[in-house]
Amino acid sequence: MRRFILLALFLSCWPANSQNLPGSSSPAQSKTQVALLGTGTPNADPDRSGPSVAIVVNDTPYVIDCGPGVVRRAAAAQRVGVKGLSVEKLRRLFITHLHSDHTAGLPDFIFTPAVLERDAPLEIYGPPGIKKMTDHILKAYAEDINIRLRGLEPSKPRGYVVNVREVKMGVIYRDENVTVKAFPVKHGSWKRALGFRFETPDRTIVVSGDCAPSDSVIEACNGCDVLIHEVYSTTGFARRPPEWQRYHSNFHTSSKELAVIAAKAQPKLLILYHQLLWGATPEQLLAEIKEGYSGRVVSGHDLEIY
Ligand SMILES: [Zn+2]
Ligand SMILES: [Zn+2]
Repeated sequence: MRRFILLALFLSCWPANSQNLPGSSSPAQSKTQVALLGTGTPNADPDRSGPSVAIVVNDTPYVIDCGPGVVRRAAAAQRVGVKGLSVEKLRRLFITHLHSDHTAGLPDFIFTPAVLERDAPLEIYGPPGIKKMTDHILKAYAEDINIRLRGLEPSKPRGYVVNVREVKMGVIYRDENVTVKAFPVKHGSWKRALGFRFETPDRTIVVSGDCAPSDSVIEACNGCDVLIHEVYSTTGFARRPPEWQRYHSNFHTSSKELAVIAAKAQPKLLILYHQLLWGATPEQLLAEIKEGYSGRVVSGHDLEIY
């Protein structure tokens, strides 16, 4: 009985807690909501979907990356109060780079909302190669598209249209809610990996994507409201085999390095995502960062709203 009461208490608090997390910048007062749809990595952690962040302004969602699980996480975020994340509203997608953990949800992002009667084209913005990837996915699903559009199923053909733009640096998108700027980040041997800066009427949010330490992140943030940055645990890293250490140090950012970046970038809130822990706990990771950085920092989890 006692256990049931505790569970009921927890469940009744859940939506309120998710909107008022320690360190969150009180989204109730802000027009702009930042919803962490997936805070994971290539690891198949059932509690963390693949990397994806939604910035929602006036109930319009702008989604960055589409890791596995993205559309169901959007539906879950809508259930906990982010109205703008209803599935048929998923119409704008920004891709940081073409690694599979950031794009394995692309067929889901194209087709699930289309089947659920999205009545507008999907607009995708990303680095060179995103057009080819999208074209191949559309070809792979040609039979499905044909049956749904020409069979008995009531359907909205416009929802199956996908417009892809391969972007350069600088302003890549603008509407009444947001201005989006792309900037280059270092990500190992990728020729082109992007970070994004979103300027909304009331907040500036920078998303690093995957990157080794990049000065461009510091410049893009420069006192921004929210910096969402990838990271790996410095102590976990020490336990990795040398060949993996070589890979990670070229492609990703350690907690020690992120502390230096954050101290220069001065975000009002630093959110960690795409966290590689290798046996460390999120608390230990936070402690590693706090050794070199005194600003507000939180370890992000799926479905938190900031
Ligand atoms: Zn990744
Ligand atoms: Zn990557």
